[in-house]
Amino acid sequence: MKAIAFRGVGDVRVESIPDPRIVEPTDAVVRITTSAVCGSDLHQYHGRAVVEPGAIMGHEFMGIVEDVGRDVRAISRGDRVVAPFSISCGRCEWCLRRLPTQCSTTGRAVFGGRFGKQFPGGQAERIRVPFADHMCERIPADLGDERALFLGDILSTGYACAENGGIRPGDTVAVFGCGPVGLLALQSAHLFGPARVFAVDRVDYRLKLAEELGATPVDLDRGDPIEQLRAATAGRGPDVVLEAVGHEIPFAQAIQAVRAGGTVSSVGVYVEASIGFPAREAFFKDLTLKMGICNARNYIVPLMPLVRVGKLQPARIITHTLPLADAPRGYAIFDRKEDRAIKVLLKP
Ligand code: NAD
Ligand code: ZN
Repeated sequence: MKAIAFRGVGDVRVESIPDPRIVEPTDAVVRITTSAVCGSDLHQYHGRAVVEPGAIMGHEFMGIVEDVGRDVRAISRGDRVVAPFSISCGRCEWCLRRLPTQCSTTGRAVFGGRFGKQFPGGQAERIRVPFADHMCERIPADLGDERALFLGDILSTGYACAENGGIRPGDTVAVFGCGPVGLLALQSAHLFGPARVFAVDRVDYRLKLAEELGATPVDLDRGDPIEQLRAATAGRGPDVVLEAVGHEIPFAQAIQAVRAGGTVSSVGVYVEASIGFPAREAFFKDLTLKMGICNARNYIVPLMPLVRVGKLQPARIITHTLPLADAPRGYAIFDRKEDRAIKVLLKP
């Protein structure tokens, strides 16, 4: 089959590899109908997160079950399913604590990632999904791939970011980063009844979509975003700041921007062991900080009805649907923000 392999910094290639097969009796093999390029793939693409040359990329995918191991009960051949980006057994202490990203059976594995046990990713024609009964969620026929796919990663992450912010009706919220995750955090924030939402970025067409989704744009290139947010909130700063970038500067800016006693909720991925942190300001502000990888498995089922009735509209961020063979171009335009790229889907 064809799959997208990492070959070096800025270098992903279409390669032919053997089809995946059932290895454990709890596995499924899924024929992928849609996958996507995620901002987290860019950390590998940039060489910021280490991945072995030849590793198959991608952790956002969905498709049709083609084969199941003899112990699989909950799904069967022909089912249309989505799976979360992190791989969990559903049975260890961490899974039972509803922290599947900490799964000790898989060693915190992520499809296409380098933590824990190694599993090839989903930018491919097929994928082996371990612990299929726990991992795979069936998708109803009336929910197209474009609306269902992001439940496995960025919609769940965006929603978790907003939920962790503890937004209350009437609050002022600021979202740092108008990439796919930030835009879905912004959509999700509106479910909690804020009075105002600001969206910070410097990419004009992303700020424009943020505005269409009900945010007031704050352009980084028009001056210090902290000053701009203060000026817009009578000097006090937003009640809740959602960080969806994953770099030291916006993380610090989020802490500096939030009002005293406010909450910063961060979902950007920090691949570095440590980053600078305005600790004194955080301390004297008495702020609440929540950060972390998203336990997406927990959100797939509860978010599905919100997508079905249109209260969450994840497909609005899709700008490109490319054949899998065009993945190298998909990475390049998403990375460089060319051709007004926001979210790039890949179709095998
Ligand atoms: P992206 O790279 O397209 O989005 C980042 C956006 O931030 C870009 O639009 C960029 O212009 C903007 N930006 C850069 N510096 C900024 C600043 N100082 N202030 C405001 N905006 C700034 O990618 P994405 O897919 O939206 O992913 C965003 C982050 O979320 C990445 O770090 C990704 O790894 C992470 N992520 C985390 C999880 C999780 O489980 N926590 C899941 C998925 C993605
Ligand atoms: Zn991701």
